[in-house]
Amino acid sequence: MARLIDTIRFDTTIAEAQQILLHSESDLVILDAAGDRIGTISRRDVDTAAHYGFSRGAVIGHMTVQHQRGQDSDDAPHFLSFLRSRLAPDLWHLLTVAANQAEARGWQLFLVGGAVRDLLLNSQNEFDNLLIEDIDLVVDGGDQAADAGAGVELARSLQAQYPQARLEIHAKFQTAALLWHDDPVFKSLGVDIATARTEFYPYPAANPAVAAGSIQQDLYRRDFTINALAIRLTHSRGDDLLDFFGGRLDLQTKQIRVLHANSFIEDPTRIYRAVRFAVRLGFTIEPQTEQLIRYAIASGIFQQVRVRVSADESAPANPNFRAVTPALQTRLRSELKYVLQTSYWLPALHQLADLGALTCIHSSLKADAHLWRQLRGGETAMRMSNVECRMANGNPLPVWLFRLEILLAHLPPEHRAEAAAGLQLPVETSDRLKKLAAAEDNLSTAFLNPLPSHSVQVLKFYDVPMLVLVAVRSDSTLRKIIWRYLTDWSLIKPPLNGKALKALGYKPGAQFKQILEALMNAKLDGEIRDRAEAEVFLQQNFPLFLKPTE
Ligand code: ATP
Ligand code: MG
Repeated sequence: MARLIDTIRFDTTIAEAQQILLHSESDLVILDAAGDRIGTISRRDVDTAAHYGFSRGAVIGHMTVQHQRGQDSDDAPHFLSFLRSRLAPDLWHLLTVAANQAEARGWQLFLVGGAVRDLLLNSQNEFDNLLIEDIDLVVDGGDQAADAGAGVELARSLQAQYPQARLEIHAKFQTAALLWHDDPVFKSLGVDIATARTEFYPYPAANPAVAAGSIQQDLYRRDFTINALAIRLTHSRGDDLLDFFGGRLDLQTKQIRVLHANSFIEDPTRIYRAVRFAVRLGFTIEPQTEQLIRYAIASGIFQQVRVRVSADESAPANPNFRAVTPALQTRLRSELKYVLQTSYWLPALHQLADLGALTCIHSSLKADAHLWRQLRGGETAMRMSNVECRMANGNPLPVWLFRLEILLAHLPPEHRAEAAAGLQLPVETSDRLKKLAAAEDNLSTAFLNPLPSHSVQVLKFYDVPMLVLVAVRSDSTLRKIIWRYLTDWSLIKPPLNGKALKALGYKPGAQFKQILEALMNAKLDGEIRDRAEAEVFLQQNFPLFLKPTE
């Protein structure tokens, strides 16, 4: 039976559209969230999308765009000139050279990812002459198997024109990067060149009837609609902005939206990425996407990651799992690191906690008021300029690692080191977390005696990062003592050194160390202030049997 109104929302899935089209002869009209027509999709489009494995994808990614939408139709075909007007001339030239080289080989070249997003986001801003330092390019070499390494080949030929750039090739992933370092023109520009990927999909580029199939599939495996936009740099007859998934609309309405329902199950690190983009750009995670995050977390996605990593012999459901998992752990770690070193790390962490995503660190990690207080305390500690929080190798403890140690320390003691190992953190961090409980025990009972010298005797056996960690977690009594130690007591110099003692007639030997320690303690406790008082102290407590020779 024919339906009267053949309209569907932009986020209707291909599978649902297929169902609807079983009962309909005409194309379906696609509406955006506001109810405006944005395009149409035919039965053939829908069947093709399904054939390519996009059944769970939204129709918006496969529709024919409607072009009579006022301002859109004015600027839609002009993104290349827009790009030219925004970019620094040298960078524009570089992209032109790359596009010409691709074209000469019959390939298409696209600017994708963050650069496109940020350019469109900043399109209202005054400033231009943008020198972007992070450029992602995708080469679509068409269907020929011989062009599988197109990205690598293009990078090589581009390097011939730009010999000052370093070339890095990741043959396994068919990607290459050109890297400038401290360059007078390009500063520290990095240009990643990838070959459009179709290999993740069930029917890789099998059907030549679908134009731009590879770039579309490449964009489809990306994280969010706003990161799945592409600008075509090579010549084209049609649009030079590729927006298969409604990314522009989401940029305008400030939404973080995944491309398909399985996105977070496929790659849980996207949960971290969703939050980082939301907080950084001031966007909201679109409700359905948020549901998918919560669903993925509730399904135990993070625990599965860990279990499968540790239990190597268990037969994984997905045959690719062993290849995929270590990379996943590494990506999780780097997303966590990325977030924890930004200026917006605290609101991001709050949002991750609200979503329940801290379970990726450990299933039993729960944020509470104590944890937030400790994390803020850690910031105060790091701003105390005269405390040098260094690792055993002498390098400063990175802020992200310090913040992460506070997070991990919030776990029950028996899980701390295990969680650190899971995130591939330095051995020093695991060690510190392993010893934390004992240190806290020891330190909490050690200060019944109020004398500074007594505190110093206990505290001097611990390194600074351990003391700071204990301090941010402890009650104010212990915290004050540790701060006092780090900022004052630990810097106090002994009133007399060994040489001075010798000059006074003391013989180096077993007692020497004891005398020096007694002098130091007396200074810490305020009994002696200067050299004269130190000598009196010596006369009284360590009288010489032989008078010093006059
Ligand atoms: P930033 O400005 O933070 O670098 P970006 O968008 O450039 O933002 P990158 O991490 O540099 O982010 O990744 C580049 C692009 O690669 C993204 O825009 C996205 O299209 C894709 N991408 C990165 N990580 C993932 C992921 N986990 N899943 C899917 N796509 C991803
Ligand atoms: Mg980037």
